[in-house]
Amino acid sequence: MNKLNVLPPSPWYAEGLHFECTGCGQCCTGSPGYIWVSEEEIEQIAAFLNLTIDDFARLYLRRVKGRFSLLEMPKSYDCIFLKDKKCTIYSVRPTQCRTFPWWPQLLESPEEWRKAARGCEGICPEAPLVPLKTIENQRFIQEDAITKY
Ligand code: SF4
Ligand code: SF4
Repeated sequence: MNKLNVLPPSPWYAEGLHFECTGCGQCCTGSPGYIWVSEEEIEQIAAFLNLTIDDFARLYLRRVKGRFSLLEMPKSYDCIFLKDKKCTIYSVRPTQCRTFPWWPQLLESPEEWRKAARGCEGICPEAPLVPLKTIENQRFIQEDAITKY
């Protein structure tokens, strides 16, 4: 057997992808979705807001099939922590916010990446090229986070 066969194939984005966040806030609003938070993240955000876990949960969380998501505002679907297009808990924002757009499902194929670009102006040919190593690092962080929700 050719030993090189054990090496995983290069992903379609092996040459890197163009992205730079403009801070537009669009990924924190739009259509309904989930902003998943782990128990550790809940503790960090509650401490940042100087709230008990119970108070934080009552004010900002919803339970979805045993997992926890931050609340969204009715109608606008803004994340409850989005104010004037800025994240008010930026330094303790959840992992899924930090790793966007390097989510496994968005990196699945060029088509999924193009769909992501429709909602994120930072994904465009004019943005700097982000190298594969950075992309994979962020993707792995997000994959690990998913196991903790
Ligand atoms: S939508 Fe894209 S460019 Fe806008 S804030 Fe989110 S990651 Fe940044
Ligand atoms: S926590 Fe902050 S970064 Fe994450 S969706 Fe809410 S406003 Fe956006």
